[in-house]
Amino acid sequence: MVHFIGAGPGDPELITVKGQRCLEAADVVIYAGSLVNPALLDVCREDAEIYDSAGLTLPEVLGIIRKAEAEGKMTVRLHTGDPAIYGAIQEQMDALEKEGISYDVVPGVSSFLATAACLKQEYTLPGVTQTVIVTRGAGRTAVPERESLKSLAAHGATMCIFLSISFLDKVVQDLLAGGYAETTPIAIVQRASWPDEKIVRGTLATICHDIEGKGIDRQAMIVVSPCLGSDYELSRLYAPEFSHGFRKAKA
Ligand code: SAH
Repeated sequence: MVHFIGAGPGDPELITVKGQRCLEAADVVIYAGSLVNPALLDVCREDAEIYDSAGLTLPEVLGIIRKAEAEGKMTVRLHTGDPAIYGAIQEQMDALEKEGISYDVVPGVSSFLATAACLKQEYTLPGVTQTVIVTRGAGRTAVPERESLKSLAAHGATMCIFLSISFLDKVVQDLLAGGYAETTPIAIVQRASWPDEKIVRGTLATICHDIEGKGIDRQAMIVVSPCLGSDYELSRLYAPEFSHGFRKAKA
């Protein structure tokens, strides 16, 4: 049996209880060493076989899993954040499916949510925006033209942009071309939830300058949103005059 597990964004306490239980019991652990905090592995058994997938190819990963299965062992495949977001797990799951190897998926806290916690920010403010777009700029992996940053920017919603910090200037250009005003707030969080997390805040007009010299060139989330530092309406859910299924209006 193989368990694909979301490790969370970095802080070893942000893995789920279920994910941690699987890690504790695993015979074999394959973890994405480029992003997963190795401190998570402290709970593994002393005799667990541990592999860093950073230097491995897909056939090599599958080879390790196949061997473990043949020996009746349980494997944990540990991915950063939530494995469904830029996790490259579909190809692994499909290969296991073909070979009749059973697996399941344990979700994790994605870094775009750890970033909201770090910023102490709600992404969906009434009267401001009710939509969060999770996306990336086109890099070595192409992005369909209809999902370009420029076209998504037209919504004026909250955008969480992964995997794009190395070309921030291009990201900013595309967001402006798509319709965000130069005054739109933007925040960059590097290594959210790690002890060395960094936050830089600015506007689309200033951010490229604000980030200079901060050493932020990888493992960072870009959040552009009218929510950041904005006036908003109070939520209906807790408004005294608002009734809903669990509470009658009080005013
Ligand atoms: N599956 C992961 C994303 C993997 S792609 C998730 O759900 O979070 C890797 C990208 O995620 C990085 O380039 C960066 O944009 C973002 N990322 C991962 N960990 C991060 C963290 N702790 N803080 C900010 N961004 C992070």
